[in-house]
Amino acid sequence: MEKKKIKRDIMLISTLIIVCAAAFLIINFVVKKDGITAVVKVDGNIVYMLPLDKNASVTVEGYQGGSNTVVIENGTVYMKDADCPDKLCEKTGKINKNGETIVCLPHRVVVEIQGGEGNVDSLVR
Ligand SMILES: [Zn+2]
Repeated sequence: MEKKKIKRDIMLISTLIIVCAAAFLIINFVVKKDGITAVVKVDGNIVYMLPLDKNASVTVEGYQGGSNTVVIENGTVYMKDADCPDKLCEKTGKINKNGETIVCLPHRVVVEIQGGEGNVDSLVR
């Protein structure tokens, strides 16, 4: 009887730990406190979360098969390439401040800056 009880307790505790760890990871992922993140969305779905302090280049497949190349360089984000007809996203230029966005309407691609100091409301949105 005692052994069974201990086993159950261990199960319970490990379940709790797993749940806590998962919650911690999710919170950490969604509410990234340190550093600023470029969030890339296609049609409202997040496809990339890229820290601005790391240079990177990703190609995003937009709505209706469009292609957008998002580049992170020295703490700024810009749309390097896009095969959309209007090229407005490319013309937006570089962004690096919380809440700033690059929008590619034809491809439904949005790059948004999130995080940083004192910008809690944009995270809650
Ligand atoms: Zn565009």
